[in-house]
Amino acid sequence: MTFDPGSVNDRLSQNVFHTDAVPHIEINQELAKATGTSKRIVAVCPAHVYREEADGTISVEFAGCLECGTCLAVADPGTLRWVYPSGGMGVEYREG
Ligand code: SF4
Repeated sequence: MTFDPGSVNDRLSQNVFHTDAVPHIEINQELAKATGTSKRIVAVCPAHVYREEADGTISVEFAGCLECGTCLAVADPGTLRWVYPSGGMGVEYREG
C-alpha cells in the first residue's frame, strides 16, 4: 500500500484564507531595496506573496500569506512590518 500526498500546490489549494481588511505586511520600499531585502523576500516566500514590479518596488499580495515567518528571517531590521492577521483572519490550514 502506498500513500500519495499529492503535489505541494494541490495540498496548498486545500487551505482557506480569510482576508483581513488591514494588511498585516508592509514594506519600507527604500530600505528594502537598499539592503537587498527585496530580492530575498521575493526568492524565499513559498506562497509568492511578494513580486518585484518593473520600477523595482515590491508588491504584496498579503491575502495568500501562509504565516510561516520565512520572510522575517531574511529581512533586514526595519524593512518589514509583519504582524499576525487579527483573530480569526489569515490562513486556515485544512491539511497537515
Ligand atoms: S510569512 Fe511566509 S508566506 Fe507569509 S509572506 Fe512571509 S514568507 Fe511569505
